[in-house]
Amino acid sequence: MLALSWQSNQADFMSNLGHGLDPDCVIEEQVRTDRLHQLFRQSFAAVFGSYLGAAMLCWLCWDRFDHKVMLVWLVLLAGSSLLRLKMFMDWFRCPDAERTPARWERRYWVTLMLSAGIWGIGALVVMPHDDRVSQVLVMLFTVGMSVSAVSCYSAYRYMTLGSMALVLLPCTLWLLFQPAPMQVGVAIAVLVFSTFVVSATRKLSDALEKAFRLTRQMERAHNISTRAALTDELTGLMNRRAFFEHAQLLYAQCRHNQQPLCALMMDMDHFKDINDTYGHQAGDQVLRQIGGVITASFRQTDVYGRLGGEEFAVLLPNTSLETALDIAEQLVKAVSDLAAEPVQGLTASLGVAVVRSLDQDLHSLMNTADKALYRAKAMGRNQVAVAE
Ligand code: GH3
Ligand code: MG
Ligand code: MG
Repeated sequence: MLALSWQSNQADFMSNLGHGLDPDCVIEEQVRTDRLHQLFRQSFAAVFGSYLGAAMLCWLCWDRFDHKVMLVWLVLLAGSSLLRLKMFMDWFRCPDAERTPARWERRYWVTLMLSAGIWGIGALVVMPHDDRVSQVLVMLFTVGMSVSAVSCYSAYRYMTLGSMALVLLPCTLWLLFQPAPMQVGVAIAVLVFSTFVVSATRKLSDALEKAFRLTRQMERAHNISTRAALTDELTGLMNRRAFFEHAQLLYAQCRHNQQPLCALMMDMDHFKDINDTYGHQAGDQVLRQIGGVITASFRQTDVYGRLGGEEFAVLLPNTSLETALDIAEQLVKAVSDLAAEPVQGLTASLGVAVVRSLDQDLHSLMNTADKALYRAKAMGRNQVAVAE
C-alpha cells in the first residue's frame, strides 16, 4: 500500500509539473475550497436560527402584528429555509471531490440572498407603522440576525454584507424617513453600529483567508521537503532511505501473506571508465536513462530505487525465482540495448535472490542478492547470477 502511494504521489507530482500548474494558483484554489468548507460548516445552524428568530418575533408580537401578513411571512420563510436545507443535504451527500467553489458558491449565494431578502422585507411588512414597541422589537431582532450573519458567513465577506444589508436595511431605511425623532434616532444608531460590524467583517475574513493560505503553504512546503528527502534527485527513483523504508514494509507484508519475495541488485559495469572516457555529465545522463528503464520495467507493487552511485535494487513481491531471473535477464538486455549517445557498450550485472528461510530478514536477503551480483561480476559482467 505504502509503495503504491509513493508511486502514485510521484506520478501526481510529475503530472502537475507536466501540466505546468502554477503552485500559487493551486494554493489559491485550495484556499477558496477551504473557505467554502468553512462556510458550510459554520452556517448549518443558521438555517434553523433565522426561522426560529422570525417565529419568536411573531410570538412576542402576536397581538400587535396582522395575523394574515405574519402567516404569509412565516410560510415564505419556511419555503426558503427548506430550499437551504435541501442545499445542505445535497452538500453532505456530495463526494469531497465535487465540493468545489465553482459548483456551490453561486447556489449558496442565491439561496442565502433569497432567504435574507424574505426576512428583511417581511419584517418591514409585518411591522405595524403606528406601534413603537413593535418597531423596537423588530429592530432588535433584525440587529440580532445581522450580527449572527457575521459569525455564520465570515469566510465570505460579500455573503455576510449581502445578508446583513437585506435583513437590516428595509426596516432601518423606513424608520430613518419617519417624522418621530425617536424612530430616526433608532435608525441612525443601527446604521452607526453596523459600520463597526462591517469593518469587523473585513478583518475577520482577511484573518481567515490568511490562516487558510498559511496552512496550505506549510502543507506544500512539507510535501516538497518530504519528497526531496525520499527521492533520488538524479533519477527520480526512491533514494536509499525510501527504498529501505518501503522494502521493510513489503518484506513484512509478503511474510505475513506467505508470498514469495525476490530481490534484484544491479550495478553498472565499468562505470568509472564511462566517466573517464565521456565525462561525468555523460555518466549522469546514462544514470537518468537507467532510472527511466527501471521505472518502465516494473509494476506499481514492486519497490525499486537507487541505492547509491551506479547501484540499483528492486524487490518483486509474489514472484518466483524463475520469473525474477527472467525479469533480470530482460533488464540486462534493456541496458545493453540502451541508446545513450555518445556512450557505447553500456552493460550491467545483476544478482537475484529469493527469501528462503523464515529466519531470514530483509538485510540478509539484500546481502545474498549482493553476493550473487559479485559472482555475476566475477563471471565476466553483463549477466545475471542467482544466489546459491
Ligand atoms: P564494476 O564493473 O566493477 O562495477 O566497475 P565500476 O567502475 O562500475 O565500479 P566502481 O564501484 O569502482 O565505480 C563506480 C563509479 O561510478 C565510480 C563513480 O565515478 C561512478 N559514479 C558513482 N555515482 C555517480 C554519479 O552520480 N554520477 C556519475 N556520473 N558517476 C557516478
Ligand atoms: Mg559498477
Ligand atoms: Mg558500484
